[in-house]
This record gives sequence, structure tokens and C-alpha cells, in this order.
Amino acid sequence: MDCLFCKIVAGDIPAKKIYEDDLVVAFHDIAPQAPVHFLVIPKKHISTMNDIREEDRDLAGHILYTAQRLANELGCSGGFRVAMNCNEMGGQTVYHIHLHVLGQRQMNWPPG
Ligand code: AMP
Ligand code: ZN
Repeated sequence: MDCLFCKIVAGDIPAKKIYEDDLVVAFHDIAPQAPVHFLVIPKKHISTMNDIREEDRDLAGHILYTAQRLANELGCSGGFRVAMNCNEMGGQTVYHIHLHVLGQRQMNWPPG
């Protein structure tokens, strides 16, 4: 499958990995939008948030749990932002789901 993030999971494309277990990988975003900006992705290929199925519920929770644990480990105890963009109108550019975690700067609302 020609998927950038599957290639990162497989180790075929390098990434600055922060954490990995049997279900997820976390790595620094290549174009950070905040002093801390990393992505948490499932090892399983899921194209968009709309493709999450009931059988993926534990995996989805594990992505969230991993995000908050790593955010705090990386010094975002004052707060952080998570985002998952879905499809074109949501601003998604890589079609393998990923949770953005941004921190160590003040986040604003509404987002752009
Ligand atoms: P999205 O627009 O929500 O699909 O986010 C895709 C994110 O992946 C963007 O923030 C990109 O900067 C990031 N990205 C693209 N290629 C890589 C890569 N090779 N390593 C790390 N992050 C990447
Ligand atoms: Zn993939």
C-alpha cells in the first residue's frame, strides 16, 4: 500500500519516533506548528476518522491515552491541543489517521 505513515510504521521512511508499542507509533511532526507537535498513529492502516469501526474502539482510546501521556512527558503540563483532521474539508492531507498533539504555546479558539 502506498501510504506514507504505513511506511513510517514499517521503518521504510525515517521519523523522529517518540514512542512505539504493539498498537501505535508516536513521532514528531516534520513541519511543527508549535514547540511541541507530534502525531500519534495506529499501526493498523485506517484512512480517515470515518473509517474507524466498532472493533477499533480500544485502539482509538489507546491513541488518546498515549497522546496525553506523551504530552505530559514532553512538558505540556500547562495544557495542550489535540486534533484529528478528517477528509478534505477537515484539512486532512495524509490518509492514515493521526492525532496531532500541539503544546508549549498558547492555543487559540476558533482554530483556522
Ligand atoms: P493532516 O494535514 O492532518 O493530514 O496532517 C498531516 C501531518 O503530517 C502534517 O502536519 C505534516 O507536517 C505531517 N507529515 C507529513 N509527512 C511527514 C513525515 N514524513 N514525518 C512526519 N510528519 C509528517
Ligand atoms: Zn497507512
